[in-house]
Amino acid sequence: RAKAGGGNAIQCTTLTLSEAAFERQQMDAFLGESLVKNEMRIFYQPQFNMEGHIVGMEALLRWQHPVLGAVPPSKFIPLAEENLFIHTLGEWALNNACRQAAIWQALSPRPIKLAVNVSPVQLASPRLVDYVARTLRESRLSHSCLELEITESSLLKNSDPRHTPLHDLKALGVRIGLDDFGTGYSSLSYLQQLPIDTLKIDQAFVRNMHPDRPGVISSNPIVQTIVNLGNNLGLSLVAEGVETQAQKETLHAMGCHSFQGYLMGRPMEAAAMGIHLETQINTAFNALLGPPMQD
Ligand code: C2E
Ligand code: MG
Ligand code: MG
Ligand code: MG
Repeated sequence: RAKAGGGNAIQCTTLTLSEAAFERQQMDAFLGESLVKNEMRIFYQPQFNMEGHIVGMEALLRWQHPVLGAVPPSKFIPLAEENLFIHTLGEWALNNACRQAAIWQALSPRPIKLAVNVSPVQLASPRLVDYVARTLRESRLSHSCLELEITESSLLKNSDPRHTPLHDLKALGVRIGLDDFGTGYSSLSYLQQLPIDTLKIDQAFVRNMHPDRPGVISSNPIVQTIVNLGNNLGLSLVAEGVETQAQKETLHAMGCHSFQGYLMGRPMEAAAMGIHLETQINTAFNALLGPPMQD
């Protein structure tokens, strides 16, 4: 029985494997054409302070393919890292997001941060510093408004902290954020030696702050510890994946002052983000002008 069944299983596995390999190959080819075919978009997810004001936004890539449909970044980013298309894609995303943010910045009375994800593969390349510098020059975005989000795994790749491009990037005046903080293998000494400005509290921790299933251990002590660490080191903190009012309030009480998540805003197209910003700017101006005059 086991033998007969096993034979089928193997055949089945072989078939599935080659199908997966074919799909990958196809996606690989499609991905290489995605930019020239205008299939990539940048969505923006607003980041809020506890008063509900937009203080920044994160640029997130979206790929809509005519045959494959919407392909999530969790699928195409690893592929792009493997076939090195990430250099072209990452540069394109940075360029586009910075141009867009510069336009919004010109309209806004207070600075709004733009966070852009940078892959470990980009960070390991000597081209990165040059194209960040060029993008800043061409977009005219003020340098301190740009935050490059890197992951802990990027730091492992360059395990000697003196040989990372982070210092050169920092010298350009941009900010550095550590994404998904606490989920990788970061060493606390990195926080001391590297020019990190922001810790992003990973959404896995935020999700389990008030676990809705019995038996799940609350991550509150972990989150409180990250918040204290960040505050003690004078770093900014952004909590990711905030979906409930309870999570937001607990974070606030713990001393974390900004967040992003479905509770207040999903990633959206530039046009929708623009409307949100405009509303906020108008409200701010009206508050400055005071109540409308009576006649
Ligand atoms: P990330 O940088 O940690 O981005 C946060 C992810 O959480 C985004 O997923 C966002 O849509 C999602 N998210 C935000 N709020 C909530 C929430 O309240 N609940 C839940 N469940 N999820 C939330 P997305 O857009 O699918 O991106 C996934 C990852 O792909 C990103 O994780 C980032 O690592 C990578 N990525 C996206 N765009 C780029 C890019 O331009 N360059 C690079 N290198 N990586 C990118
Ligand atoms: Mg990110
Ligand atoms: Mg993250
Ligand atoms: Mg993530």
